[in-house]
Amino acid sequence: MMAIETPSRIAVLGAGPIGLEAALYARYLGYDVDIYERGRVADHVRRWGHARMFSPFGQNRSPLGLAALKAQDPSWNPPADDALLTGRQFTQDYLLPLAQSDLLVDGLHEETEVIAMGRDGLLVGELDGDGNRDEVGFRLLLRSTRPLDHGRQRVALADVVIDTTGTYGHHNWLGHGGIPAVGELGAEEHLEYGLSDVLGADRDRYASRRTLLVGDGYTAASNLVGLAELAAQATDTWITWITRLACDEKLPQPIRPIPNDPLPERARLARVANRLAADDANHVTLFSGTTVDAITWHADLERFSVRLLGKHAGEYEFDRVVANVGFRADDRLTSELQVTAPAESTGSNSPGAENLLTGEPDFYVLGAKSYGRDSRFLIADGLEQIRQLFTIIGDRAELNLYASMAGLV
Ligand SMILES: Cc1cc2nc3c(=O)[nH]c(=O)nc-3n(C[C@H](O)[C@H](O)[C@H](O)COP(=O)(O)OP(=O)(O)OC[C@H]3O[C@@H](n4cnc5c(N)ncnc54)[C@H](O)[C@@H]3O)c2cc1C
Repeated sequence: MMAIETPSRIAVLGAGPIGLEAALYARYLGYDVDIYERGRVADHVRRWGHARMFSPFGQNRSPLGLAALKAQDPSWNPPADDALLTGRQFTQDYLLPLAQSDLLVDGLHEETEVIAMGRDGLLVGELDGDGNRDEVGFRLLLRSTRPLDHGRQRVALADVVIDTTGTYGHHNWLGHGGIPAVGELGAEEHLEYGLSDVLGADRDRYASRRTLLVGDGYTAASNLVGLAELAAQATDTWITWITRLACDEKLPQPIRPIPNDPLPERARLARVANRLAADDANHVTLFSGTTVDAITWHADLERFSVRLLGKHAGEYEFDRVVANVGFRADDRLTSELQVTAPAESTGSNSPGAENLLTGEPDFYVLGAKSYGRDSRFLIADGLEQIRQLFTIIGDRAELNLYASMAGLV
């Protein structure tokens, strides 16, 4: 493979933690970089900004990030490496200053959504497999999400594209078998698919209400723990928690602990959620081995009717429904590219630089999106992907800016 010579133009899609770090690595190597961000920097992280991260700050930042921020402002003090920051603190204390640093700020385009991309002048089936597709660059269609010129479109060009658009904007479906429940498409805007701030900004939506919580992952666990705490404060708050897999009735473990979990905070969350499920004397009722068949939102009554299947089959009513059924990669962006292994179906979550090759020359998917539906992605995994990626782009197997910079910061 030929090295991409500097100063080629690299487009980074998404200014999340991995997009920013990938852009920074590229800038240190002398590439021109544009970062296109649909919303504001770290938009997805801000959506769960009230939550405390599992991974300590030292695992969420790179030596390059520290070096850039110290060069920018010698009086800047990073958070301690062992600090467990909230998403909001991580954004304020690290990601925002990084995005505003001299190396990145000029190429940062916030409120700019990438809505399509292809090769500049080539159709998806052309020059199939003959290795010449990389002779033309990429053409990106951008759309402004800024209130002033909302919807205005323009085209940008790039020699290399790194897609780090994450998964948090595209949820899985609530229904039995992973497809939408009957009525879910109509009720979608009334459902919560992410992490609510039930003890803060969203308190009034959940206090003194009956909530149906669906899912057995860590987002469900976080929502459960918050809702249970809310129930201790507002005692007519009730939570019915359903999980697809059946649990042992006596010792339910709806959140399956990760063996020898290296992140103690994540292990603790699983323990607390499982304890809440096992305890009869609280406001949480576990329905394991149960799925959602149908759901209807009654706007006049402000409540849902829900039909359940499985061990607790029947008709129920709830004021709120929180569907923590996971997220997925949005592959529409790449439909005009020769991507042979879409993140959606496989995830490229196996180690090794060769797993970053997508089939389309000079197009790469990194970060949470590269794991598709596998929610185990951590920022530390993304930093390793970045290191590997630039050994490919620079065609230098030994290239490791993180190692060379680590001793200097
Ligand atoms: C509740 C919760 C807690 C978590 N805690 C941790 C933790 O402790 N440690 C950890 O390592 N990981 C944690 N994660 C996982 C975390 O989300 C990821 O590690 C991290 O955010 C992934 O970064 P990313 O840059 O790949 O994607 P994202 O953070 O998802 O960023 C993607 C960006 O792309 C933008 N975008 C999307 N589509 C477009 C488009 N078409 N055009 C332009 N821009 C677009 C989005 O607005 C967003 O800013 C947690 C996740 C959740 C949900």
